[in-house]
Amino acid sequence: MVVRVRFAPSPTGRLHVGNIYIALHNWLHARKAGGEFLLRLDDTDRERSTEDFANGIRRDLEWLGLAWNLFDRQSARLAIYDAAAERLREGGRLYPCYESAEELGLKRKVQLSQGKPPIYDRAALKLTDADRKKLEAEGKRPHWRFKLEPRDVTWNDVVRGPQHIDETSQSDPVLVREDGTYLYTLPSVVDDIDFRITHVIRGNDHVTNTATQIQIFEALGAAVPTFAHLPLLVDAAGEGLSKRLGSLSIGQMRDDGLEAMAINAYLAKIGTGDPAVPVRSLDELLSDHELSKFGKSSPRFDPDELKHLNARLLHHLPFEEAHKHLAAIGLGHVDAAVWDVARANVEKVEDVAVWQSVVKGPVKPAITDPEFAAKAADLLPPEPWSAETWSAWTNAVKNATGRKGKDLFMPLRQALTASDHGPELKLLLPLIGRARALKRLKGETA
Ligand code: GLU
Repeated sequence: MVVRVRFAPSPTGRLHVGNIYIALHNWLHARKAGGEFLLRLDDTDRERSTEDFANGIRRDLEWLGLAWNLFDRQSARLAIYDAAAERLREGGRLYPCYESAEELGLKRKVQLSQGKPPIYDRAALKLTDADRKKLEAEGKRPHWRFKLEPRDVTWNDVVRGPQHIDETSQSDPVLVREDGTYLYTLPSVVDDIDFRITHVIRGNDHVTNTATQIQIFEALGAAVPTFAHLPLLVDAAGEGLSKRLGSLSIGQMRDDGLEAMAINAYLAKIGTGDPAVPVRSLDELLSDHELSKFGKSSPRFDPDELKHLNARLLHHLPFEEAHKHLAAIGLGHVDAAVWDVARANVEKVEDVAVWQSVVKGPVKPAITDPEFAAKAADLLPPEPWSAETWSAWTNAVKNATGRKGKDLFMPLRQALTASDHGPELKLLLPLIGRARALKRLKGETA
């Protein structure tokens, strides 16, 4: 049996870290099992779904490297859902209801005031053909409810362990709205059957849906897939991440200069108890990936930890890989040598631009003691320069001026780079070169 999973976002917004956390674990699960990953757009909500959001979802997944083997969208499959709904009707599992939202609200109020749970009373099941004809003649259109079997539905959740939901505590869910459009519940099951999905890996906000959907799988005579409900991410305050939180959108993170693999590496580990480590490919995340590592408690998404991981990733990133990102943000002119020297000092790739200009100029030097700087300039050795030049030169300056430690090094750093900190000067100095170093020590912009 080929493992097949699906990621099923609704194109009603940009993807954020919470969505990617689900997408990533689906992707890793498929990849590890040599299986397939379906990208399915749940776009039955025609009013809120847009093509821009659909394109954004594809772009974000591509950027993260979460490639899909199969693609479909629910709006293209409506006739298939109609056929499934018809089968449920024929089997007596889908029945028409005519109550308005106000009537249902009133029923719930009465039930609550009597101390009863607000469950739909199935009044519509008692309607006769004549009743229904009369209602339709009055212009009423039915919505359609799925008749739940009043029993415990059980499944063995890969993340949560054995689950059971007492369906007598649930209202029969509406599957088809008055205008004939589908809620998410039925199309999702029909798709999971048609695409032979073996594992449904999704957020634990769908646990209750699962019991209903298991009944629909069974009513349609299909095998029930394995379910895994991951705990939802929360922010530092323990609050859920809302879908529309702009700052946590993948698009925003990309614009902020984060590496795709830092996001993947971080999201792969939170909630598992394993430490997040900087890795450069998704395949490096496979060996540790195990859905059973998750508990029920909500993993905390910490943007600062992600930033930190991003920096750690960059500190070892070879130039060839950094260059792709640099070129994409207009920094294609950064030299390999500058990257190699400066990468340990950047938090985001764009930070290297500063060091490129320190090497190539112009830099307006920061000189606090011109006499000392002039003396140091006189002692600059002739080229060619190497990684040994810095210590040979600073030793000579030390002997000539009697300065040592910070008093010796800081004014030289400030004169050469106009900054108090940065990459090692023994590596930076040969890149700056004698001509520029000389000018800067004399206080000239170079
Ligand atoms: N479109 C649904 C959602 O975004 C999919 C849920 C599922 O994976 O079944 O919540």
